[in-house]
Amino acid sequence: MAKHTVTLIPGDGIGPELTTAMTRVVEATGVDIEWEVAEAGADVMDKYGTPLPEHVLESVRKNKVAIKGPITTPVGTGFRSVNVALRKELDLYACLRPAFSIPGNGSRYEDIDLVIVRENTEDLYAGIEFEQGSEGAADLIKFAADHGAGTIRPDSGLSLKPISISGTQRIVRHAFDYAIANGRKKVTAVHKANILKMSDGLFLKVAREVAEEYADSGIEFDDYIVDATCMQLVLHPEWWDVLVMPNLYGDILSDLSAGLIGGLGIAPGANIGDECALFEPVHGSAPKYAGKDLANPTAEILSAMLMLRHLGETDAADRVLDAVRTVIGEGERVTYDIKRSRFGTTEGSVGTQAYADALIEHL
Ligand code: NAD
Repeated sequence: MAKHTVTLIPGDGIGPELTTAMTRVVEATGVDIEWEVAEAGADVMDKYGTPLPEHVLESVRKNKVAIKGPITTPVGTGFRSVNVALRKELDLYACLRPAFSIPGNGSRYEDIDLVIVRENTEDLYAGIEFEQGSEGAADLIKFAADHGAGTIRPDSGLSLKPISISGTQRIVRHAFDYAIANGRKKVTAVHKANILKMSDGLFLKVAREVAEEYADSGIEFDDYIVDATCMQLVLHPEWWDVLVMPNLYGDILSDLSAGLIGGLGIAPGANIGDECALFEPVHGSAPKYAGKDLANPTAEILSAMLMLRHLGETDAADRVLDAVRTVIGEGERVTYDIKRSRFGTTEGSVGTQAYADALIEHL
């Protein structure tokens, strides 16, 4: 039996080619991993009647560790996001998105090393919405008026923003525990508590209480308003360390951070709960590049690097990261996006699998 069994969800769009590159690199480190492949997304709808069949969830629950490629979400109509459903069903409440500079990738900045810790289950992403014109929307509009909460235009659609004490406690504790385990110095809570007093105000109050619990940990704590954070991230990206925040700000700031380090092609992520962990890149399925062997698999491969650390395979994780730094640093056998940002032309770029070959040679 292999030392580790990991659920592999290839996804769709560029997902399958990226996960192929990723498994090749991970296997080349010599780590003893067996992949239990579980398909999800639009392509399995016909066969199972759902984009997220129960056996996929069972596989992750059993193995406790999973890695996936991106999965397309139809816009406007069709099923809700499989990615969001996976996080919800498995209660993967902490979304970790490290953003660190990889010299030579053509990004505007160097020396960035920050981590976005995004709450993954509540806030405006809870999925509690009332369609414009529906009975529910009318009831809620009347309820708000009856309780003196304010007037809402009758032709409004509504999305609720629930933030709880327990949800905030566990995400802020997760941020502190991560900071301690990874030799970090500071945790910053990001919010809009000056305006959203009942939701973000509660988030900030609870974050401060949790910070008190960690007063002796040596980890500093402060807080920042989300708009000011955006400006300071762009002005001084090297200032930041661990940032913990509600779901929506986390979604936006992790893309902003991906931009700071040179783009979505290199930004990895992890979704972590008390039972299971699911690793995936920040980017989506980029359908226009699907099946063309063009997309950059670095984000998928660095997500596997995070997974290897989670599995205790530190040496293999370090070797993967070193190989990425070396191959991107040399700037020869890299994908089109890195060639373009570094040299202003895609000329001489290599495909997804050829880049993986270069990494394997440098492991
Ligand atoms: P996207 O991240 O798929 O692509 C945006 C652009 O970023 C691409 O056109 C491409 O130029 C670039 N890009 C992304 N990944 C790249 C890579 N690996 N290499 C090189 N360039 C890359 O975002 P989108 O177009 O907004 O979304 C497409 C689909 O993906 C949607 O259906 C969306 O719902 C889904 N999505 C899934 C996830 C996930 O699986 N977790 C995350 C985000 C979006």
